[in-house]
Amino acid sequence: MATVHTAAASPDADKQQLAETFEMLLTTVRQNRPSDDIAIIQQAYDFCLKHHAGQKRASGDPFALHPLEVARVLAEMKLDSTAIAAGLLHDAVEDTPVTSRQISEIFGEQVAHIVDGVTKIEKIQFANREDRQAENVRKMLLAMVSDVRVVLIKLADRLHNMRTLEHLQPERQQAIARETLDIYAPLAHRLGMGKVRSELEDLAFRYVDPVGHDQISSAVEANRQQGEQFLRNIDAILHERLVEHNISARVDWRIKRLYSIYQKLQRQRITVDQVYDLLAVRVITQTVQDCYAVFGLIHSIWRPVPGRIKDFIAMPRPNLYQSLHTTVMAEGGHQFEVQIRTEEMHRVAEEGIAAHWKYKAGGSPVNAKDEQRLAWVRQIVEWQRDMTDPNEFLSTLKIDLYPEEVYTFTPKGKVVVLPKEATPIDFAYSIHTEVGNTCTGAKVNGRMVPLRSRLRNGDIVEILTQNGHTPSRDWLTFAKSSRARNKIKHWLNEHQRERAIEIGRKLLDREARKYKISIAQLTDTDHARAAADYGLANPVDLLAGIGFGKFSARQALNRLVPGATSTQQPETDSTPGMSDAVKRVFFSKGSDSLTVEGQNDLLVYRARCCNPIRGEEIVGYVTRGKGVAVHARNCPNVQNLLYESDRRIAVEWAHMKDEEGSPQRATYPVKMTIYCDDRAGMLREMTAVISDDGTNIRAVETKAGTEAEAIVEFVVDAYDVGHLIRLMNGLRRLPGVRDVQRQQKL
Ligand code: MN
Repeated sequence: MATVHTAAASPDADKQQLAETFEMLLTTVRQNRPSDDIAIIQQAYDFCLKHHAGQKRASGDPFALHPLEVARVLAEMKLDSTAIAAGLLHDAVEDTPVTSRQISEIFGEQVAHIVDGVTKIEKIQFANREDRQAENVRKMLLAMVSDVRVVLIKLADRLHNMRTLEHLQPERQQAIARETLDIYAPLAHRLGMGKVRSELEDLAFRYVDPVGHDQISSAVEANRQQGEQFLRNIDAILHERLVEHNISARVDWRIKRLYSIYQKLQRQRITVDQVYDLLAVRVITQTVQDCYAVFGLIHSIWRPVPGRIKDFIAMPRPNLYQSLHTTVMAEGGHQFEVQIRTEEMHRVAEEGIAAHWKYKAGGSPVNAKDEQRLAWVRQIVEWQRDMTDPNEFLSTLKIDLYPEEVYTFTPKGKVVVLPKEATPIDFAYSIHTEVGNTCTGAKVNGRMVPLRSRLRNGDIVEILTQNGHTPSRDWLTFAKSSRARNKIKHWLNEHQRERAIEIGRKLLDREARKYKISIAQLTDTDHARAAADYGLANPVDLLAGIGFGKFSARQALNRLVPGATSTQQPETDSTPGMSDAVKRVFFSKGSDSLTVEGQNDLLVYRARCCNPIRGEEIVGYVTRGKGVAVHARNCPNVQNLLYESDRRIAVEWAHMKDEEGSPQRATYPVKMTIYCDDRAGMLREMTAVISDDGTNIRAVETKAGTEAEAIVEFVVDAYDVGHLIRLMNGLRRLPGVRDVQRQQKL
């Protein structure tokens, strides 16, 4: 944010300085973009002068000089007049009473949109300096702005603020310089803007590490003469050989930038003791072919250092940077680095994304091969294809570098990166598991939203929690992040296990009472031994196993009190309890089997109201403490269960295969009611139809109906729906059979 001081009206000197700077701006625009509309720039300048009138910068300069200098940086980047106008207005909404609406009315929506974007970035708090966080902020900046010119203005703004940083207090200098190194220089790097990045880094370095800066600076100065002499010599040799081989190329040589030397020393943990560490040679050619020719030529003059050859032409860096790099050994064993690239590659390396403006406007084609190398560039090309007017192309240039992620904030400004289409639940779990588990609601940008709503870039999310609140299975239908999904599933599983332990304890207790055994009188040793018999380390696992229906309570009791169930008579007839039901429907071989999607260890049983069989569409319903009841989808009870949707659960029939891989014939008891003529031989014929199919009959009952009608009820073991339909059709074909119906209830 700019530091604004209000002072008395500008003296004439200020006016003069502003007018001269504005002239320089116009000159650059006329040079770089002769066909651009100057009027909007003039208008924006007048507006800027008017609204920043009387404001001063810390340097004592009139405030308007800052937006003016920012506009000049943009003009030097060869950006269009829309961007330059927005640059002139970039602090207007932030630092003056001007509203975004006014900007829109006077300068149009596009300018207002860009200024809004810059203002929005101003408001983000870059408090956290953790590396990952910084990377997130950079990604976020790129992802959340819909127009890349917003980022370019922000970079120009930062560049001018860094150029004038000397006027601020030391603490502010430190903070701004640090942020520049953490966020803005890497951002420029990512956009391939080498020139802006270098200047930002060198300016910031001075403030962030003044001691290191001075050390390297004096080392460079001490070695400058010797280094330059060395480089001039290299240049001369190279030049001669280029002419000799008829290669058109220019040679650039220089002492490296301070910050780049600093980084190299940091990386290699060395100090400057060799002048050659400071030197860099660059050869800029006309064609790619010449790059490789020069590469070979250099290696014929000087010996290459092994492992230092890099071909970024064949394999460009993600930011589109291309060059051949090599390090060679000169006389006396002195090493120096050489970069070889074409003029076009050089331009891209220096200007990055901004390089795309100048030729686009003129209508001449950008190297199509380059453009295919990055997602965003591909996108640009695609948009361009759809547009005939180059101005329209510029005005709708959008970036979406990280389409798979969404960047959101905590109320304190911390960035939270989530997968696209993430919800407040994902946000909650990314903060902390407990926050997720106890999440009851969420506010996005200050407004209450449903938990299933989708988060968008830049959303500020506040999670509401309540102690004792627990996750809902329903969350799994909209949670996006694997973290949230895993945490929810984990909680549900844990919770189910607790419940299974409770059920297991009750089943064991009930079984024990039948045989007049007191579980309470058993010792820990008894429990441990019984668990060990099942190969379990912990007696609680045995209870859970009983609860989940893996082990029968009666057998477990027999292990706990050997011989208990064989020598004693049960006190009452056992009604089919939970464990029996579970065993029958879920676990015993040759019986029917159900699995619950994604859950291996659930207590599952077929609802008795509808007794679904294989092949029928089914739904699961989490009962209170009895596990999951599985109903036929058309069961009337399911309609009533819909009211508690968070207790519904997806279930499917398990694939039953035996060791040989042939389908196992699990069967289900099904009751059929047959309405037929009351005649002799009818029952025998029916029985024949059923048995001939190899179907087991469990029970038959006949009832007298009305008017010579008989009603016969069969309970048969059916494999699946297809089997049942075949039986029913067979029965229907018998003479005298009027109707055959399946009874849901047994
Ligand atoms: Mn500014």
